[in-house]
Amino acid sequence: MAIIGDVHSVIHTNSLLVYGAYLTLQVKAGDSKLHYQHHIPAAASLRTKKTWPVKFPKEELKKRLTPAQYHVTQERGTESAFTGGFTHNKDEGTYTCVVCSTALFSSDTKFDSGSGWPSFFDLMKEESITVTDDFSYGIHRVETTCSQCGSHLGHLFDDGPKPTGKRYCINSASLGFQPKDAASSSSAAEGGAASGSASDGKTEL
Ligand SMILES: [Zn+2]
Repeated sequence: MAIIGDVHSVIHTNSLLVYGAYLTLQVKAGDSKLHYQHHIPAAASLRTKKTWPVKFPKEELKKRLTPAQYHVTQERGTESAFTGGFTHNKDEGTYTCVVCSTALFSSDTKFDSGSGWPSFFDLMKEESITVTDDFSYGIHRVETTCSQCGSHLGHLFDDGPKPTGKRYCINSASLGFQPKDAASSSSAAEGGAASGSASDGKTEL
């Protein structure tokens, strides 16, 4: 059986991201020919099917995380501005992913953006965060996701301070915190004291 694949209807990259595309397959089996047309969903839908190096059972996360932490990291929620536990945290240390404990941000790169969410101008490691286009709420933003476990973190904007000009706008509920003077302890697993309510209707700006 031979499969002749051909992608139609990909007019340009933007339409693929927003609307998806149609993949037409022509399958030859003996004398008969079959045509399949398969809709490839837009990038926003595809992202949910991406697999991550680390995966936690849903039930375990529901037990381990607060409702706000679960909602933000697993359901791409957003905590209300100024309600998160780390917005005004000025302690020295390392901010980690609350779900998988991967180190994400250093307190050295945290700054007061006035947005009401913890803000950082750089990552500890470039590969620790995956960025994807997010078209929810009818606006284009760049979503940030933990590269290890796929947890939603927040969004990335281009209006940050020098030297990077970047602003990682991160939910407190997505973060754990490991104080510098207790680096050898496992305090990051505490869940980061991320209190505050989560809301679907809020967007980080
Ligand atoms: Zn993670």
